[in-house]
Amino acid sequence: MKIVYKITPMLAGLALAGAAIAQPADSIDAHIATARTAAGADYRNTLLNLCPLFAPAQPGAGRGAPGRGAGGAPATPDRAGWYAPPFKIFDNLYWLGSRQFSSWALTTSAGIIIIDTNFAYTTQAEIVDGLTKLGLNPKDIKYVILSHAHGDHDQGAADLQKLSGAQVVMGAADWDMTLARKEYPGGIPTKGISVGAQGHKLTLGDTTVDIYATPGHTDGTLSYIFPVKDGGRPVMAAYSGGTLTGAFGTNGARWDEYVASQKKIAAAAAAANAQVILSNHSEYDGAYTKARLIAAPRQAGETHPFIVGQASVQRYFTVMQECAIAAKLRNGAK
Ligand SMILES: [Zn+2]
Repeated sequence: MKIVYKITPMLAGLALAGAAIAQPADSIDAHIATARTAAGADYRNTLLNLCPLFAPAQPGAGRGAPGRGAGGAPATPDRAGWYAPPFKIFDNLYWLGSRQFSSWALTTSAGIIIIDTNFAYTTQAEIVDGLTKLGLNPKDIKYVILSHAHGDHDQGAADLQKLSGAQVVMGAADWDMTLARKEYPGGIPTKGISVGAQGHKLTLGDTTVDIYATPGHTDGTLSYIFPVKDGGRPVMAAYSGGTLTGAFGTNGARWDEYVASQKKIAAAAAAANAQVILSNHSEYDGAYTKARLIAAPRQAGETHPFIVGQASVQRYFTVMQECAIAAKLRNGAK
């Protein structure tokens, strides 16, 4: 008995020391487990890109995000590797993406709203030619809404503005970043609507896009809730504006801000009964795959590929929140 009593506290002490060195492993694992369950089969790529699945993380591991201020363009890659044809997704929503990054056209009774613009090398091929191919006029673009000022989502804005006279809409902090640039692929847009922390309701004709400030990925990241129509039936869509967290490091406030933003847009999506989740990276919402499925005849009772239901939309935001909490702990951020 005496031996047992002496050994047990010693082992317990070793176990505690081990736990302390490894940081709060249980918490990290618990958050990863919650994220994994939420991700299911449909949000595996989001899980893979956000969650610290491969512990312990090496510096720069986990597909680090371009940090704030990033946005440099790669050399124009071979068109065969990125070009995707445009698709009509809903009665009033069109996908103008490349295989990797998405740009969307929301049509209204008073013109077109473009949501995110991709790299400059895609502007003509995907957005201008895409609209034309789908029977829409690029000169009817009235607004270009940018989720955040990184090159994979904002480089086409200035060219579209020149073409159509559209107003560019961006988060206030990302306008600061944009206007501080000396030069930029595709040019620098003229300042239009600047969205602050309180958000903005952007109405064009019969359509309102409810814009939410969701700082985290960048200080000015925006996310949206807006209506789409499937064969005349209105359905609400939630648009997640900024995803990666790889540059946050030990900056606890930034992790917390990101998580708070995901909670905010998730709550707005729930309140609006959003049944569609959209993103600006095809790997997160499966846009390129789903867009091609749209063209195939649907089986009886089969739902629209983009209408995933409210629970699935919420699962998406749960993956973002839980992975960020796990990654914050893994980074030792306070
Ligand atoms: Zn970004």
